[in-house]
Order: sequence, then structure tokens, then C-alpha cells
Amino acid sequence: MQTPKLFDNHGRPINYLRLAVTDRCNLRCFYCMPKEGIKYLPKRELLTFEEIERLITWLASMGISKVRLTGGEPFVRTDLMRLIRKISEIEGITNIHLTTNGILTGPYISELKSLGIASVNLSLDTLDRERFKGITRRDEFVKTWETFEQLISHDIPVKINAVVMDGKNIDDIIPLVELTKEYPVSVRFIEEMPFNGEGNHYPTLTWTYKKIMDHIRVEYPAIERELDPLHSTSYNYKVPGHLGTVGVIAAFSRTFCGTCNRIRVTAQGTLKTCLYDDGVLNIRNLMRDGHSEEAIKIELLKAYSARSRDGFEAEAKRMKGSPIKESMSTIGG
Ligand code: SAM
Ligand code: SF4
Repeated sequence: MQTPKLFDNHGRPINYLRLAVTDRCNLRCFYCMPKEGIKYLPKRELLTFEEIERLITWLASMGISKVRLTGGEPFVRTDLMRLIRKISEIEGITNIHLTTNGILTGPYISELKSLGIASVNLSLDTLDRERFKGITRRDEFVKTWETFEQLISHDIPVKINAVVMDGKNIDDIIPLVELTKEYPVSVRFIEEMPFNGEGNHYPTLTWTYKKIMDHIRVEYPAIERELDPLHSTSYNYKVPGHLGTVGVIAAFSRTFCGTCNRIRVTAQGTLKTCLYDDGVLNIRNLMRDGHSEEAIKIELLKAYSARSRDGFEAEAKRMKGSPIKESMSTIGG
């Protein structure tokens, strides 16, 4: 039987999987996790590599061609490269991407290059070691920076993800834009979302994409709008003469939902059809209960036939209207 391709009930094709390989992390970023008292999932609750491989093979037959591995920190999962090698052999998967904080990534960059990694998103909210320590609660700036330089020297496309936080890294916005002068990097400023494991940090978000751009324009009035690639979540810009580009992701304002082509699977195998829903299907349980490939594919199709139109609708439909208390480390961003 030919497997039907995955479309949602709004006619959007789904071809991009974001999968969190772990909820564990070696940092404690202010916007993602509380400082202390994190309860990690028991290891048996995480999808095994074999389960991940099976799931991606099924999804590839349903039209998924792009995979991003994220977390938690993907490289704290033992033997991550073995998983990446396996995924690179799955028929239909043409692009593998990674999101990492870079601390443990260095030793694997040559192999990532030889496996044809499509791009690496590196989280780096500041270029200042002390501020890095304040935001991430760990003194690891140097390793992340070394990883950045190595990725560039290996000619691997790099995007820097910088969450903009009132009172924490506003002074870093311009230096991060300045980085695009000498480096062919895409620096993306992300509106802070309330996925920090504790709840909303602010009554209203001040540093919206508009305010971020207004701030950048004061220093770079000549910054130009670029054409956004299809399914891009960022508004993209370039300072004339710079090697790299600048993007702003309106993750809180949710202006990009209309073209969303994503499927998210959390570290414990929960399917999210939207970042803002609270999980619509536990794929891991279905696998472990012995459901067939066909039966699970039918469940996936069903889930996407009832998908919320956008992040606002998904948030409104959360269980009993529960406020967001999850950490991004279980979802993967
Ligand atoms: N540990 C890896 C890293 O930090 O790159 C991968 C996982 S992390 C959850 C994925 C992305 O989510 C990071 O780029 C991070 O900046 C972003 N993120 C985490 N919490 C966020 C929040 N509350 N608002 C906006 N972005 C967030
Ligand atoms: Fe860890 Fe990434 Fe979350 Fe920071 S954003 S705490 S590096 S998972």
C-alpha cells in the first residue's frame, strides 16, 4: 500500500521533523530551564535510538525529508553520532540539521561535515563571557565560541540563535549583528517564549520583533530586507557589505504559523502538531504497546487532520486552559 503523505487539515504539507533526542542539558539557560530542581525524565521514558530510527523511516515514507535533532542538548545523549549516521542512511531524508549549545560539539565537527550535515544552529545569546555565565548559569562561553569558529572553518552553514531578554542581553544585539560583517553566519534574534519550566517571565513581552528591528535600525539604518525562504520562521535582513544575514523570529507573536510545515516529537515520544499545544499523541507508547506501522501512521494522519490553525488556537485548546509551564528542553524549540 502506498503511504499517504502528511498534510494537515488546512492543506499545509508536513515535511520537516524536529525531534528532541533528550531533555537533559549541560546548561541552565534563563529562558529555558529553572536554575535548580529540574526533574529529568527517567532514561526508559526517552525514545531509544532504534525507536527514533523506525519512526523517522516511517515519517520519511509520509513525506518528511528534513530532520532537525535538538533537545535538551543533543550531544549529552551518549553516542549521538551513531544516531546521526543511521538517520543519514534513511531513504528520503535529504537534510539533517542540528540545534546545539556547542559545548560538546567540537570533536564531532569533521564527521558532521563528512556526513553532509545541512546546517547547525548554535545557541549564543551574548558575546560576553560574564553575561553568558549569567544567562546560562555555566561558565562555558569559550567552548561555544570555539565550536562557532570550527563550524565556520569547516564551511558548515551556521545560524546563531539568540533569545532577546529584557535586562539581560540587550547590549549584545548590535555586537551580534556586527558578527555578520566578518562571518558568513545568519544571526537570528528570537522573541522569548514562556517555555522556561516556570511560567511567564513578563506580564507582556517588551522585546517584540518590531522593537528588536527598531533597535537594530538605529545603528544600521541601511539594513535591507531579504527575500524569506519558503517556510522561513524569520524575517530576514542584510547589512549591505556584510557577509552574513540577520533574522528575527517572532516566536511569541506567532506571525509565521500560516506556512508551518513541522512535526515535533518530544524526548519522550510525544507528538506536537504545534509548539503551543500540549501534546496530541504519545507515539512511544503506541510503539511499545506493539501497534503496527500502519496503525501508527493512521494515528499520525488523524492528529494532523485536527491540527490547530495557529499557535493561538493551539494555546487556547491546551488541557483545561492550563498555562504553559513546560521547559523548551523537552520540546526542542
Ligand atoms: N540545547 C540546544 C540549544 O540550546 O541550542 C538545543 C535545544 S534548545 C531548547 C533549542 C532552541 O530553543 C535554542 O536555540 C534556544 O535558544 C531556544 N529556546 C529555548 N527556550 C526558549 C524560549 N523560552 N524562548 C525562545 N527560544 C527558546
Ligand atoms: Fe540547554 Fe538549549 Fe535549554 Fe539552554 S536552550 S538550557 S542549552 S536545552
